[in-house]
Amino acid sequence: MDKPIYKRILLKISGEVLQGERDCGISLDVLEDIADEVGGIRRMGVDVAVVVGGGNLIRGAIIAEKGIDRASADYMGMLATIINAVAFQNILEAKGISTRLMSALEIRQVAEPFIRRRALRHIEKGRVVIFAAGTGNPYFTTDTAAALRAMEIGSEVILKGTKVKGVFDRDPELYPLDSQFFPQLTYIEALERNLKVMDSTAISLCRDHGIPIIVFNIRERDNIRRIVLGEKVGTIIR
Ligand code: UDP
Repeated sequence: MDKPIYKRILLKISGEVLQGERDCGISLDVLEDIADEVGGIRRMGVDVAVVVGGGNLIRGAIIAEKGIDRASADYMGMLATIINAVAFQNILEAKGISTRLMSALEIRQVAEPFIRRRALRHIEKGRVVIFAAGTGNPYFTTDTAAALRAMEIGSEVILKGTKVKGVFDRDPELYPLDSQFFPQLTYIEALERNLKVMDSTAISLCRDHGIPIIVFNIRERDNIRRIVLGEKVGTIIR
């Protein structure tokens, strides 16, 4: 059997991916597909943690423009990530994958509070840990939460699942013919070119702590497994 090149990974799933072909909301079909892939790599013995976004339901910055104060809007965004996380947890468990949901905001009836050591124990026991509510702080993003949690749990890499192949110089959905794809980038290039891959706080954290980020199309079947086996998929930022 092929051997995984990573022992522990953190998968970031953005709200944009979770909405599938809809304008907003959750596509359970997308969650089913991702759950199958996560189950596959768990069976290979790879530790998996997941950070879910919330942009399919609420984006703080956008509703703040409509008159809700920014901090409240961001708390709404964090609550949205918990809704996504509960859905994903259920779908994983229905497939026999053992999970724990941990939230950066206290919501005890729904999720355990995030406690780093406890998260590590869950992962050591083979559970897929889903991190919800981002960092628990307004003015941050779930990309930054992914970078933070990756460091805290000793993840070797962040897999950022998107709807496109990887990082381009401009939006490939808007400019399908004249957008350039980057198979690899340095952290500095990603920051300086302002490529909108991840926010600058998240990229800077990964740079400072040497965690590579792989941006890839999560809607293409088998991509997570291929990455875990060391194939070149998407864009690697390191
Ligand atoms: N958010 C926040 N602090 C965090 C993470 C998220 O305030 O640490 C809020 C913010 O309003 C954001 C929303 O939650 O717009 C949804 O998260 P994000 O936009 O990162 O989700 P994604 O882009 O991955 O769907």
